[in-house]
Amino acid sequence: MSNALVIGSGVAGLAAAIRLAVKGHTVEVFEAAATPGGKLAEFSQSGYRFDMGPSLFTRPDLVEELFREAGTDITGRFSYLALEEANRYFWEDGTRVTGWCDPDRFAQEIQAKLGVPAPLVKRHLHRAHELLSTTGRTFLEHSLHRTGELLRGGFLKALTAVRPAELVRSLHGVNRAALGDHPKALQLFDRFATYNGSDPYRTPGLMRMIPGLEHGQGAFYPVNGMYSITRALHLLAVDLGVRFHFNTPVERILVDDALSKVTGVRAGGRDHAAERVYSNMDVVPTYRKLLPDIKAPERTLSQERSSSALVFYWGVRADHAELGLHNILFSADYKAEFAHLFDKLELFHDPTVYINITSKHTPGDAPKGCANWFTMINAPRDVGQYDTNTIAAARKAIIGKVKRTLGIDVEPLIEVERVLDPRSIAERTSSHQGSLYGTSSNSPWAAFLRHPNDHPHIAGLHFCGGSVHPGGGIPLALLSARIATAPIPTLKRITSHT
Ligand SMILES: Cc1cc2nc3c(=O)[nH]c(=O)nc-3n(C[C@H](O)[C@H](O)[C@H](O)COP(=O)(O)OP(=O)(O)OC[C@H]3O[C@@H](n4cnc5c(N)ncnc54)[C@H](O)[C@@H]3O)c2cc1C
Repeated sequence: MSNALVIGSGVAGLAAAIRLAVKGHTVEVFEAAATPGGKLAEFSQSGYRFDMGPSLFTRPDLVEELFREAGTDITGRFSYLALEEANRYFWEDGTRVTGWCDPDRFAQEIQAKLGVPAPLVKRHLHRAHELLSTTGRTFLEHSLHRTGELLRGGFLKALTAVRPAELVRSLHGVNRAALGDHPKALQLFDRFATYNGSDPYRTPGLMRMIPGLEHGQGAFYPVNGMYSITRALHLLAVDLGVRFHFNTPVERILVDDALSKVTGVRAGGRDHAAERVYSNMDVVPTYRKLLPDIKAPERTLSQERSSSALVFYWGVRADHAELGLHNILFSADYKAEFAHLFDKLELFHDPTVYINITSKHTPGDAPKGCANWFTMINAPRDVGQYDTNTIAAARKAIIGKVKRTLGIDVEPLIEVERVLDPRSIAERTSSHQGSLYGTSSNSPWAAFLRHPNDHPHIAGLHFCGGSVHPGGGIPLALLSARIATAPIPTLKRITSHT
């Protein structure tokens, strides 16, 4: 078997390394940072522990699959709970809705609190689940760029299962047609566009499938917090013989031009030979920095990026019973909020605030009687608009929102604080413009315009992670590694992505 090198140890890089080692390759991972995980990182300060990036965990089967493939018992290495409630939703007028994972219970809750007849909600959730397990599965679990896979994957069937309105209308339009004119219910279901960093007023109605995840397949919580995913996958890779080089950024991908094939990477000032290279680095800097002499697919690289985030990690000297693991405090004007995020590229003065508190399930994540608030608002991709004033104004807006919605004056309770903004997301992980999920899904063609998992002309060069097919978020990043490391069917690849 051959040498395979992986650039980056984000969740997709770890998964690719595991899969390659299982196939018998000699695998080395080069990671610019001192620790594995990329966006899936953690830090601790003054008795508080915080997951730095992802907080919502879906599709645990994709983590389990890696252990199964490796023939390693997952027991004692990674465990998770199935959640009864996915989210708690709050509005300033005092309305509160619990997002029960069970679709029937959730439908009853929405009927009781927001006035939408439960059968309409159930039908909407049923359609979400149906689309997710048919069309979603086909498009997300296969390459869209390998002819052999296209033919085998049942794409035609998957496409015909989509209703025209789900392609032509926006998610908001489809939600409105399904649920009627109930502003709060629409806001709740429109919010699922943010699960891939998109705008509900522009992303296609097909995204109605997203609630099928937490209100169909379920929402989960890793017993020791999100970082335990990184820890478990890193240890599994080490056990399989993968060698990690931390604090070692790759400087170049080496290519034999005459043979159109990859020959290795340059890192730490020397060349490392390999027959296969898998880039888990964002695809834009991969081309710009690591492949400066190779013609870049400009159309692909210029696709609109997903939203980013502004996160305040607050150690709070109180534990509020009305808050759960995932809490959403809605903006009073959702349309204006998204116009700011995607058109004006500015933060909105009345943001929707997300508060994740892992100490609700992992008491050791905060001192007794305290709580670790991961307080996040959606933020536009970084185009140079952020400075200390914009961050300070957002902090004030969030504190005001918490006070108006929950009646909690959080500012005097904050005893630990750290901030992550779109600039630091880009700096820490090389994510282009600080986007969380690679490209946005604001167009019906977005899925086809993502970069493929194989370089179309350079043999042995592959891509995995949130910036390439099938997209961002932990489950899709894990799927990208599965696709990128699968044997390429012998039929000719489609190369029309430029
Ligand atoms: C604040 C926030 C909240 C989020 N919330 C959720 C959520 O709730 N649920 C969810 O599923 N997803 C969420 N996401 C998205 C999710 O974190 C990402 O989609 C996913 O973790 C991306 O993984 P990745 O494999 O693409 O790699 P990344 O995490 O982007 O890691 C890339 C790695 O490559 C390394 N690297 C870059 N350049 C080089 C180089 N030249 N040489 C060597 N190494 C290099 C970086 O240091 C980094 O470790 C969130 C992200 C953030 C930031």
